[in-house]
Amino acid sequence: MIRLAVISGKGGTGKTMITAALAHLLPGSLVFADCDVDAANLELLLNPQLIRTEPFMGMKTAVIDTAFCTQCDKCVEHCRFGAIERDGEKYQVNPLRCEGCAVCVHVCPIAITMQPRQTGEIKYSETAQGPLVHARLVPGAGNSGLLVHAVKKTAMEQDRYCDLFLIDGPPGTGCPLISTISGTDIVLIVTEPSVSGLHDLKRVVAVCRQFRSWILVAINRFDLEQSLTDKIQTWCGEENIPVIGMIPFDPAVIESVRRGVPVTDSGVTPAAQAIQILATHLEQELMDLGKKR
Ligand code: SF4
Ligand code: SF4
Repeated sequence: MIRLAVISGKGGTGKTMITAALAHLLPGSLVFADCDVDAANLELLLNPQLIRTEPFMGMKTAVIDTAFCTQCDKCVEHCRFGAIERDGEKYQVNPLRCEGCAVCVHVCPIAITMQPRQTGEIKYSETAQGPLVHARLVPGAGNSGLLVHAVKKTAMEQDRYCDLFLIDGPPGTGCPLISTISGTDIVLIVTEPSVSGLHDLKRVVAVCRQFRSWILVAINRFDLEQSLTDKIQTWCGEENIPVIGMIPFDPAVIESVRRGVPVTDSGVTPAAQAIQILATHLEQELMDLGKKR
């Protein structure tokens, strides 16, 4: 079994579109995890059937028991995040503002306690291509890195029975990305020819190198700005990072997303053909990695 994460340094590069197409094209038995928990939308392209959900409990937040509150106002004075609100004589904690520091509990151990709060749910589904573990984070809730870890852990209970564990990762270089790529064998970074695309590619590569995963790159909409595509290829060459996919701009991608299907299901289009080639190169990389083990 090989663990492969499809990631990007920035949002909007087409990462999920490519992951969904690879889910259809790569051979063998697959397990999927959608670790882009802030904007989980792999399910929109894989048409899953929901099997079960589990609550996800994030960090503890403060809760005031008004029966023991004497309205002394000390908790409001000490909360540096402005999380404790007064409504007449009633004091309550705004969970979206509470950072879980527990200072208020030290100030008022009689009336305030720290309690677990549900900040999301983990969903287990079946798709035609294999099991999918995904999640929903409550809007405004933090701890997306913890939820990513929980999604991966749930999916990894299945992955010993499969050939490939395919992860749709989050954009960016923060905690959710680190939770996503830890323990992976290969990361496929999807980038695009823009100034920020190259800048964010360099940042995400720097993070991935800390985890010793084999790094591959695909350039989406490569034909929109050839000079920047050339720069990305040159930089990847200098860094010894193979560019295994070059996907052109193709209106069929927008149409397939609108229909909720992978672009490779929309007939022979330029993007679908390019992703087929990407999948062939990726399959070769996976075979090479399997032989080295
Ligand atoms: S410190 Fe305790 S008693 Fe005072 S207002 Fe806050 S919750 Fe109420
Ligand atoms: S735990 Fe910290 S952030 Fe939350 S209400 Fe108490 S003092 Fe404010």
